[in-house]
Amino acid sequence: MRTFRLFIVAIASLLTATMIAQQPTPASSAAPDPRVEQYKRDVGLEVDGLGEMVQRMNDQVFSFAELGFQEFETSKYLTGILRQNGFSIQENLAGIPTGWMASWGSGKPVIALGSDIDDIPQASQKPGVAYHEPIIDGAPGHGEGHNSGMPLQIAAALAVKKIMEQQRLPGTLRLWPGVAEEVDGAKAYYVRAGAFKDVDISIFVHVGSNMQVGWGESTSNALVSVEYRFTGESAHAAAAPWRGRSALDAVELMDIAWNFRREHLRLQQRSHYVITNGGDQPNVVPPNATVWYYFRDTNYPNTKTLWELGDTIAKAATMMTGTEVTSRLLGSAWSGHFNKTIAEVMHANIERVGLPQWTDADQTLAKALQHELKVPEIGLATKIEPLRGRSEIPDDERRGGGSDDIGDISWNVPTVTLNYPANMQAGPGHNWANAVSMATPIAHKGVHYGAKVVALTVIDFLMKPDLVTQAWDYFTTVQTRNTKYVSFIRPEDKPAIWLNEQTMAKYRPEMKKYYYDPSKYKNYLEQLGIKYPTVRTAPK
Ligand SMILES: [Zn+2]
Repeated sequence: MRTFRLFIVAIASLLTATMIAQQPTPASSAAPDPRVEQYKRDVGLEVDGLGEMVQRMNDQVFSFAELGFQEFETSKYLTGILRQNGFSIQENLAGIPTGWMASWGSGKPVIALGSDIDDIPQASQKPGVAYHEPIIDGAPGHGEGHNSGMPLQIAAALAVKKIMEQQRLPGTLRLWPGVAEEVDGAKAYYVRAGAFKDVDISIFVHVGSNMQVGWGESTSNALVSVEYRFTGESAHAAAAPWRGRSALDAVELMDIAWNFRREHLRLQQRSHYVITNGGDQPNVVPPNATVWYYFRDTNYPNTKTLWELGDTIAKAATMMTGTEVTSRLLGSAWSGHFNKTIAEVMHANIERVGLPQWTDADQTLAKALQHELKVPEIGLATKIEPLRGRSEIPDDERRGGGSDDIGDISWNVPTVTLNYPANMQAGPGHNWANAVSMATPIAHKGVHYGAKVVALTVIDFLMKPDLVTQAWDYFTTVQTRNTKYVSFIRPEDKPAIWLNEQTMAKYRPEMKKYYYDPSKYKNYLEQLGIKYPTVRTAPK
């Protein structure tokens, strides 16, 4: 749901000059502990040793390409790897069949590592090809890059586990998947189920076009995802239309009313809808119709206000049409607030790890796709951005935008999101173009380097208990001083686990033929017979 994530990153870098209002001071100014330095070198080498595995996991999940709540192959595969490596798995987390929590180790600190795993409708795309060419026309695809995050976290966890075993370090590693993030469907339910209750530090990762982390208020929006179902009465649409009551009329009137009211809403709001049921055929007055809204604004109270307005307008539409309406919540997200201490520790590790070396082939692919999409032909990131952060962003500086339900977790436990350079600044987000790099050497290297940053950061928190205290101090005295978390989800709400069932059932049989087979092919590009890179025209 990081709608226009890369765009946000671009805006964020434009704002960098103003964003670094406070130059961060190093979280720990003491002389480096030689033991920590040694473990960091060791853990980096462990991650390097997992390079091939990283590539396999990334390509495998790319090929599964599953929509939200239907990530069955993905979850089976990832938990299988974790089980083989000694993790215990709690299945069916928060009543979500594809949700789970993997755990290894014992004692404090408890460090949670998570990332999203679902993909985007109709984003099927051949990797390494710099123009639109689906693997399967109309099928879902990783048009955001969620295939890469859990492979990154697993590589980081396995490397850290090795050091913890060798050095007998106490601590617990937890790994968890962001199920159905594209519909913000799971994380608030994980929180409600107590999945993060004993967690000390939470490190989330999300694909981006550079290696970066920030702290303080995020520019993302809070969100509620609400389905309105109208019921009327069917009738012969020509012979006796006066006996019918059209549920579709109610949907259309609700949408018209919302679009008029839109002019008089806060500038920061974002709202959009799709009609998921508009009736069966024109000669039957539609007895039922459904419209699905996303209401977004900067924070919980503003978003709640939009939701209430949606309910009012839906009710008004029933009064105009003689129909009835019910609604249900399909997803929700708080806007994020990220932890200063963790971000500072992580940023130091980003500077230490650096960016991957891109080959000419990598840059050629990136520039060719940028050319294809008529965006600046800047290639791949070659410079690390400074750490950015502000505990509060004034309301009038916020411009609205996408949402990510990591926000819910960030308000319950000190959290950061690491962006890692497995994608490039090119696509508009939620689009085939954002899948192009995701099973190529660009993603493989971005994930590998991201895993190193996470592994080094986990070592810091395992070895320096003071940092955990500092992180909680920021969480308690700054972040949550005036804001207390109240979930959007009500006691009666349940995860919308039926979403995308039909779409996956339609495409899965064909998609299975393209699942990556690592026993036969070095990588997915080889399996698909794609020359890397495949470009339409020579880039400038
Ligand atoms: Zn995402």
